[in-house]
Amino acid sequence: MRRLPVYLVIDISESMVGENIRQMQEGMNRLVNQLRRDPYALEAVYLSVIGFAGVAGTLAPLTELMNFYPPRLPIGSGTSIGTALNHVMDCMDKDIILSTAEQKGDWKPLVYVMSDGSSTDDTGKAIQRWKATFKQRAKLINIGIGKFADLSTLNEIADLTYRLDDADIERVYQALCETIASSISSQSRSLGLETPVSLNKELLENNAISLAKNSEELTALDENYAIVMGLCRKVKLPYLMKWERFGEVIFGDAEYHYVGAYALEKDYEDWSDNRPNNQTIKSSQLIGGGGCPHCGAPFAFAMCDCGQVFCIDGLGEAVCPKCQQDCFFGFDPEGDDFEINRARG
Ligand SMILES: [Zn+2]
Ligand SMILES: [Zn+2]
Repeated sequence: MRRLPVYLVIDISESMVGENIRQMQEGMNRLVNQLRRDPYALEAVYLSVIGFAGVAGTLAPLTELMNFYPPRLPIGSGTSIGTALNHVMDCMDKDIILSTAEQKGDWKPLVYVMSDGSSTDDTGKAIQRWKATFKQRAKLINIGIGKFADLSTLNEIADLTYRLDDADIERVYQALCETIASSISSQSRSLGLETPVSLNKELLENNAISLAKNSEELTALDENYAIVMGLCRKVKLPYLMKWERFGEVIFGDAEYHYVGAYALEKDYEDWSDNRPNNQTIKSSQLIGGGGCPHCGAPFAFAMCDCGQVFCIDGLGEAVCPKCQQDCFFGFDPEGDDFEINRARG
């Protein structure tokens, strides 16, 4: 049986934290269940999941649909699309069975790249490599999740580019799963014939999806979030605090309103870009705050001189979980403004 290899290349950067990653996780389950009901897909499809943030890695190696189990999606810092593209090409070099005189090799692999932001690394070399060796051998589907996804990076090598940006996040992920499932199904039916990857008409008409055609539709809107990484003082695990931009900036600095804090697992660092990050935001731009999602301490937004943000129970002394120095937090009627390192998103 000739295989149809499918690679899901998923953005697991900080901006995906919370509802997005939960919906993506659920969407993956739905996608697998839907494909398993299709006898053509069941016979040919092999799935692999690759995650990328600051680094890229395989979360699930190429496995036949019947035995595929959707992996847990971690979160990291950064959106390295170039690294992700190189990783999937390395996987294909290793995985794909080529046709020889004795055997028929795999069908053209389908590579779905899903991102909600813009690349934070250099993509030039990876794109050159794709053009030189993979353009004829694989199909790339470039999917933007939300208005802030920059589709222009991969558009020149993509066989299909589209954006999902319904206001209703649940519908976005439903549409994502349906578009991917229907294109895999139709490709597994048309095996052997050179058919272009296409979007199901019905799905296009329910307007959660737009095909990006001109450069205006490809570029992203300005980032709307401020994300800060903190470390729980008690359990020593990371968390992310998220603020959303409020209104249009007419003069001065943008103002961000608090959305929430999300607990992260230990592997956050493994998936993060560890180059120094110089992007900062002023504390006066961040309105509101909340408690620590790990230990429940009421203030998740205390900052040490070393730059580390961590949780505290209240005013007084606390030891920084990063540099171990004693910090004192008192009430400051002036509301001192300080600069905080922003996560890459
Ligand atoms: Zn805590
Ligand atoms: Zn410190």
